[in-house]
This record gives sequence, structure tokens and C-alpha cells, in this order.
Amino acid sequence: MAAVTYTSAGNINGPTFTCPRCNRVYAYPVDHGAPVRCECGWWYTNLGHGKIIEEFRPRIGGAKTSGPEKAAD
Ligand SMILES: [Zn+2]
Repeated sequence: MAAVTYTSAGNINGPTFTCPRCNRVYAYPVDHGAPVRCECGWWYTNLGHGKIIEEFRPRIGGAKTSGPEKAAD
């Protein structure tokens, strides 16, 4: 059985993308493909032509959800 993971650095063939926030290294996201979802919570999506958009999407259950917490009376 093959146990191949795509999350470990050092096992990447081809171009890499380094998260500018935590310096983790990933396989470069393909054009219009799945985003790089960094451990630090930032997603990097390749829109094509080398344009990368960044979004902060903390993991569910990871970071505390934002929003006002109504105090009980
Ligand atoms: Zn990161």
C-alpha cells in the first residue's frame, strides 16, 4: 500500500510555494486549482497568470470565532 501525503515538505516535485507568514513550503497551487491551505490559517489561491490571492480562513474549531458575545443580563 502506498501512503503518500502531500503535506510534508521535502516531498514536493516541481515548483513550490512558501507561505510568507510562517515559511512553510507547499507545492505551488495550480492555476484555478485547489488553494494551498496553510497550517497557519491562510489560504493561497492561484487565479492564473501567476496571480495569488490570499485569504485568512482559520480552521473550524481552531481559532476562536469572531463576533460579539452578548453578555448575559
Ligand atoms: Zn502559513
